[in-house]
Amino acid sequence: MNMENFELIYKDNRVIIKDKPKIKARLSEIVGNDNVSDNEIDILAYNKDSTLLMFNWTLEGKIAALPDFIVWPETPEQISSILRLANEEKIPVIPFSEGSGVVGGAIPIYGGIILDMKKFNKILEINDKDLTVTVEAGTNGMNLERYLNAKGYTGGHIPQSLYTSSVGGWIAHRAAGQFSSKYGKIEDMVMGMEMVLPKGDIIKFKTIARASTGPQLDKFFIGNEGTLGIVTKATLKIWPYPEKRAFISYAFPTFEDSLEATRQILRQQIYPAVIRIYDADETYRHFGHIENAKDKVMVIFICEGIERLVDLEATISRETCERNNGIECGEEPVEHWFETRFRVTETSSTPTFKMVVDTIEIGFLWDKAAEMYYSVVEAAKSVKGVIMITAHVSHFYPNGVGFYFTFAGVPPKEKSDFQFYQEVWNTIVKAVEDAGGSFGHHHGVGMNRSKWMPVEWGKAFETLKAIKNLNE
Ligand SMILES: Cc1cc2nc3c(=O)[nH]c(=O)nc-3n(C[C@H](O)[C@H](O)[C@H](O)COP(=O)(O)OP(=O)(O)OC[C@H]3O[C@@H](n4cnc5c(N)ncnc54)[C@H](O)[C@@H]3O)c2cc1C
Repeated sequence: MNMENFELIYKDNRVIIKDKPKIKARLSEIVGNDNVSDNEIDILAYNKDSTLLMFNWTLEGKIAALPDFIVWPETPEQISSILRLANEEKIPVIPFSEGSGVVGGAIPIYGGIILDMKKFNKILEINDKDLTVTVEAGTNGMNLERYLNAKGYTGGHIPQSLYTSSVGGWIAHRAAGQFSSKYGKIEDMVMGMEMVLPKGDIIKFKTIARASTGPQLDKFFIGNEGTLGIVTKATLKIWPYPEKRAFISYAFPTFEDSLEATRQILRQQIYPAVIRIYDADETYRHFGHIENAKDKVMVIFICEGIERLVDLEATISRETCERNNGIECGEEPVEHWFETRFRVTETSSTPTFKMVVDTIEIGFLWDKAAEMYYSVVEAAKSVKGVIMITAHVSHFYPNGVGFYFTFAGVPPKEKSDFQFYQEVWNTIVKAVEDAGGSFGHHHGVGMNRSKWMPVEWGKAFETLKAIKNLNE
């Protein structure tokens, strides 16, 4: 393969490694010859993550960025030695698990060493009394969930990318699964953790239910996206596999009615594992075949757990929907969602139509949730070339919600797809920040959002930077 046939997008800040054979030899000493590669085919395979725009680029013969080496370590000590070497030689290191991140965090924009975590794939221990599982960070999500299910448990963390993501990737960017209303986000599930810090020190956080032994330093590292350390092992909460699941769906005349009904359900301390509100456009897209949902806003619920509690939760959820103008739509819409919930062919096929498509998830308190939805829709529509902006609400808390917007458009002639993409992103993030929301609910910061960090964090961002600098 001739790399010169491809256009490289991120090339300006590439770190030049002067003596590549020497570095390769030293990496081989650490992890063995079979666990280091600078073969063209491997280098090419790690040029991007799953950011949708990258697929447009691939079709256009463009490459995001190229690493110099791929390494597949097997122990924290090996990671430690790799990081010490990289510090000595000033070579960038990018942790990479399954590459399903969608904000560009695993793209090797400065070149350097891709540190692939896939060999950290052992499920080490289930503790039934403590309700915990200890697992190596590179373990694939679906492998973990299947293993737990076979033993009578669930991990409760079921992202749409379950088949293509890892425990370490979830922790790295504070992921949220589809069943988060009951089980929480990943930061609610991590009980203990092992990490390798940038200078190579290996640290462990004790597994404990609660403590009062100083600040919660372990939580500080959750969401660091590889910038403050590499997660090698974690102990996570687990739950007994649900005895019963109740599938419930209601269509509402307005978006506001649907938000009000779900807010009231949570206020009564009822936590259906899954709640999903689809705005009118997404209701049409996903539930166009449901007569009662025509021109309405569909909401689906799954209550799960022990039978008696599920029955009570289902009864209260139904009553609350009906009090808020909900029209019952039965189990079928939920079955439809359940069967198709990992399917992404609709969005992943859009690059072939030369459209620029992406999703942006954001966090908001209940107080301004409806208002914020309309301001994001209006803001996105104001960008020339945008032809679609829709949303669902898929993460619910007693105090707020996580929205998930999808936009699609065709760049106007004067703009490249990247410029158009960045303009839509910036417009939406600004609308969210102006309205007092948070620009990211569960996909992380990555490249798309990093420039907005000072706005999101305010003066506290200086503190984060100072802590990061302790490692340099
Ligand atoms: C179709 C699709 C659906 C998705 N659905 C969801 C969803 O429902 N919920 C959700 O939260 N996300 C979702 N995502 C995005 C999410 O970012 C990833 O799915 C996933 O959690 C990332 O894990 P990964 O193992 O693939 O990590 P990668 O993509 O390999 O890495 C992600 C980031 O974490 C860093 N990193 C990776 N491993 C480690 C480690 N061990 N230690 C430190 N840093 C590390 C990388 O450098 C990078 O910055 C979806 C993505 C796709 C493509």
